[in-house]
Amino acid sequence: MKPANRLSLNYQTLAREFRRLEYPIIDVHSHIQGQEATAIYSRAAEEHGIGLTYSMTPLKDVPTVKRVLGDRIEFISIPDFSSKDRRSAVGEGYKRQLPEFRKHGAKVAKFWNAPRIYEASDDPFVTSPFRLNAPERLECMKVAQDLGMIFMAHVGDPDTWFQTKYQDANKYGTKSDQYEVFEEVLDTFTIPWIAAHMGGSPEDLQRLSGLLERHSNLYLDCSATKWIVRELSKHRPEQVRAFFTRWKGRLLFGSDIVTSDAHLTANSSTTEMDAKSSSAEDAYDLYASRYWALRTLLETDYEGPSPIADPDLHLVDPHSFTPLDAPILRGCALPDDVLRALYRDTAQTLLR
Ligand SMILES: [Zn+2]
Repeated sequence: MKPANRLSLNYQTLAREFRRLEYPIIDVHSHIQGQEATAIYSRAAEEHGIGLTYSMTPLKDVPTVKRVLGDRIEFISIPDFSSKDRRSAVGEGYKRQLPEFRKHGAKVAKFWNAPRIYEASDDPFVTSPFRLNAPERLECMKVAQDLGMIFMAHVGDPDTWFQTKYQDANKYGTKSDQYEVFEEVLDTFTIPWIAAHMGGSPEDLQRLSGLLERHSNLYLDCSATKWIVRELSKHRPEQVRAFFTRWKGRLLFGSDIVTSDAHLTANSSTTEMDAKSSSAEDAYDLYASRYWALRTLLETDYEGPSPIADPDLHLVDPHSFTPLDAPILRGCALPDDVLRALYRDTAQTLLR
């Protein structure tokens, strides 16, 4: 059984069954790299109606990705995560990267603050130099703001991770602690912020409404397919529909698709679930599955198993689930006007 295609679907054929949109979708959150993988991604994106993709591509790979995707790609600046010195990568090093990304047209600067960032120093959460409100990170934000960029942040992580790998609150902070810091920087820099992965809390739509109410400069993207599918499907479809309708104009479509040429060469013994694709066909399924699942979740009233394995089920309950099990995907069938704002108009207004 393949983790990105448990149900042996033909994503290429199924892509034609989605409603015909009169506009191209904008994917504001992806990680595109690798020449061959980018070409495969290009096909999956086109088939699923994606006309423009914003990507967090490592600086050195930007020219290659640009060559393959042309005017269908824009870039979001990221720190050099290949650097062994994490503190410099998100601090002094990032200050030097930002103008380079700007030269490639990047209008968005990413500030990554997933709790696992705190593993890069011995400090506890409360004094960690990796907090979003730490001096070195604020300096980077100032540089990005002066370059005319807006911000994207990864704040929080799934509740399932706070129940398991982040149990040490002294080290990682609690889930609520993440938002205390985030709300502080939302007030310090009042330019637009896109909080990735439904602001890190698809589990708690009330928390998200609170954040959106208090901070008019905050936008959310719906990227991280497995997490979003699992958690949004747990709410009643009418609740999800009410949330997306209420916050129309503040929500953006994103996939968090990660492409890599390693997907074309990795052998089947790789432990990383998603890296198991060992052929171009599997890489295609890996990328296309994200668009199929998100469009099915957002546009349709499908109710059935997700085709994508979700190892988080096993993480929380190893007795009931295997890493290849998947949750129920419950579509919320958004109305056309809400969909259009989510898929295109909001991104166009914010980023063009
Ligand atoms: Zn991402």
